[in-house]
Amino acid sequence: MNPVNGAIPTLDYLFINGDKKVHYQESVAELVEHAVVNGEGSLSESGALAADTGQFTGRTPRDRFIVADAQTEDTVWWGDVNQPISTASFEHLFKAVGAYLSGRDIFVRDTIAGADPAYSIGIRTVTETAYQSIFVSNLFIQPTTPDPANRPEWSLLAAPGYTCADPQRYGLRQGNFVIINFTRKVVLIAGTGYTGEIKKSIFSVMNFILPLQKRVLPMHCAANTDAQGHTALFFGLSGTGKTTLSADKNRMLVGDDEHGWSDNGIFNFEGGCYAKCIGLDERKEPEIFNAVRFGALLENIRYVPGTRSPNYDDVSKTENTRVAYPINHIMGSITLGQTSAPKNIFFLTADAFGVLPPVSLLSTTQAMYHFMSGYTAKVAGTEEGIREPKAVFSVCFGEAFLPLHPMQYAELLRQRLAGGGIDVWLVNTGWVAGPYGVGRRIKLAYTRSIVKAALTGVLKEASFQRHPVFGLRYPTSCPDVPDAVLNPVQLWADENAYFEQANQLARRFIDNFKRYGEEVSKDVLDASPTMMESDTAV
Ligand code: ATP
Ligand code: MN
Repeated sequence: MNPVNGAIPTLDYLFINGDKKVHYQESVAELVEHAVVNGEGSLSESGALAADTGQFTGRTPRDRFIVADAQTEDTVWWGDVNQPISTASFEHLFKAVGAYLSGRDIFVRDTIAGADPAYSIGIRTVTETAYQSIFVSNLFIQPTTPDPANRPEWSLLAAPGYTCADPQRYGLRQGNFVIINFTRKVVLIAGTGYTGEIKKSIFSVMNFILPLQKRVLPMHCAANTDAQGHTALFFGLSGTGKTTLSADKNRMLVGDDEHGWSDNGIFNFEGGCYAKCIGLDERKEPEIFNAVRFGALLENIRYVPGTRSPNYDDVSKTENTRVAYPINHIMGSITLGQTSAPKNIFFLTADAFGVLPPVSLLSTTQAMYHFMSGYTAKVAGTEEGIREPKAVFSVCFGEAFLPLHPMQYAELLRQRLAGGGIDVWLVNTGWVAGPYGVGRRIKLAYTRSIVKAALTGVLKEASFQRHPVFGLRYPTSCPDVPDAVLNPVQLWADENAYFEQANQLARRFIDNFKRYGEEVSKDVLDASPTMMESDTAV
């Protein structure tokens, strides 16, 4: 782990030069000391560093850009997610961020993304703060022999203190930005200290390179396995349960967020996890709770006043409180990050309309349909304090990080499923017994029992019913889950209200699919929900 001869890399190629100190590949212990001395954070009771990320406590997707050039012009799926920026603007900002970092003591770290050496990239990260370097150390994969003279293929500069003074001139929206340049192999992050930008920009890089150059399917999913190599994948948008459900004391964690599927099987892109802390409870999520120890990085949490004990219910700074830890903080994890192809795939959705059954078993075309839909619901606040659910459709459960057209990813999944022998389940980790405000979120214990029954093969043996609107086949019984919970209608006070809500959600699915145009094959379209006529509704 220690750098060769304690040497320091030259960084002129990143426009970084000057006489300030370069902290190269320092241990997490040293970085924690710097963070505390520099006032970036404090030590919590369990030894984790608690830092605040500043103004931004989440990603700002509208300030993320990809350099439009010969390599990306005809390959990237341009739009609101993938916004273009010119090479000239990038070069200006690259020099400006380099000059800014030259005037500071900086933290340089060489790491790897991609646990399978056949599909990995090396990354040199240069960060303004020590806590960001701890994040990089925890989330990415450590090289066995970092050598300052060996220039990694990719570079990432992160300067939370730099903002562009004249954003319009360079095609930016405001002073902060994330820019990916695939030709230069450089990522610039400025004006934000939220570490999720570091992780998700490298994810975006992998999501471009792997399908185009290697025919590997990159996935926004968690993965775990057992001693027999029965792997499970957990797809889902933010907050649907990837990290929570993949941390399971009876199984081995491969990774909680980003994986690739190649002919060799599944490999993690990362070396650690980034878990939500809101409501974190030692009894309900013991693996994650106990991962918060020395070496872990807590973000934007508050202590119980007068103590160094995190109050996970205090979300006064943000609901998106997080902890970043290396994978070995989870007992029995697969530290090498590779495992066999999956036997079970879970699509997690937090349906705040309370319509979808807690679990259904999908046919291959239904799997394609729901993969392309990438549905979940967000419970967004409004001025009045009334909180209305909003349907979100995000292709492949990860549209925000996918530079290519959705069909590129969907077709790779189709090929992988074509082999057969893989069960795909749609799991609603959201609301039952009514929509948000009326019903309640399904108990985590029930969802865990559902996942367990699917993995042991018990669930498949149950009897199934077909949902009249969504066409989904859902089991009518499951160990440790009341039958009434499995039936989406039964717990609703009013059956007509249920079907009205189901129809409305079906309409949203159908409308969303229109944006994929002519390219969608007919069998996938046939897996679409069908709205019930109002007079035939029960
Ligand atoms: P991200 O992509 O942002 O990392 P994620 O998919 O990993 O999101 P989690 O961090 O697992 O999401 O968040 C799920 C949250 O929902 C946790 O705080 C968990 O405690 C809570 N939760 C409540 N009920 C359930 C349930 N039935 N199933 C899963 N999670 C639940
Ligand atoms: Mn997660």
